[in-house]
Amino acid sequence: MTVASRVIAYIGLGSNLNDPGQQIKSARIAIAETDKISEVAFSSLYRSLPMGPQDQPDYVNAVMSVATELEPFELLRCLQAIENEQGRVRTGLRWGARTLDLDLLIYDQIQLADPVLTLPHSGLPDRAFVLYPLYEIAPDLVVPGYGPLTALLEHCPQAGLQQLSS
Ligand code: ATP
Ligand code: CA
Ligand code: CA
Repeated sequence: MTVASRVIAYIGLGSNLNDPGQQIKSARIAIAETDKISEVAFSSLYRSLPMGPQDQPDYVNAVMSVATELEPFELLRCLQAIENEQGRVRTGLRWGARTLDLDLLIYDQIQLADPVLTLPHSGLPDRAFVLYPLYEIAPDLVVPGYGPLTALLEHCPQAGLQQLSS
């Protein structure tokens, strides 16, 4: 029997529709209850201003780390299934309002440029709502291909990001 090794992955959670705080909490439970995924750490919730179209509500964001035996594309499919279960509607509008967005931020040391799965996530290096919660749960993290998280934070003002709970 082959036993897949467990690796650490980081997931970014976001919501700005239908009780965003509750959406994030439900997604946390759904992820942690998924076979071959277990939660390692979960950040505070943060409020952030929308990217792209401004005629939409503010977002609630968080970051979680997990240990997983799933391969990267399997993990992405699980995250997309949870988005769908929580009523995510794909409008085709870039950065439009959504009940739940689950981005696979980092998967172990893997660097990948596939449009279906880019690792680390392409938005990671300059998004305050990713970097600050990430710092909370992994202050010593070195981001594959980008270097220390602390160096990325130095170039990323916290502007517009508000910590909601710890
Ligand atoms: P952004 O990716 O800039 O945060 P978004 O989250 O609104 O924007 P989505 O509509 O959720 O974008 O996803 C678009 C596509 O991005 C998905 O179909 C998915 O295959 C692809 N994708 C590429 N890399 C990743 C990743 N690391 N995590 C999640 N999706 C990814
Ligand atoms: Ca996203
Ligand atoms: Ca996404």
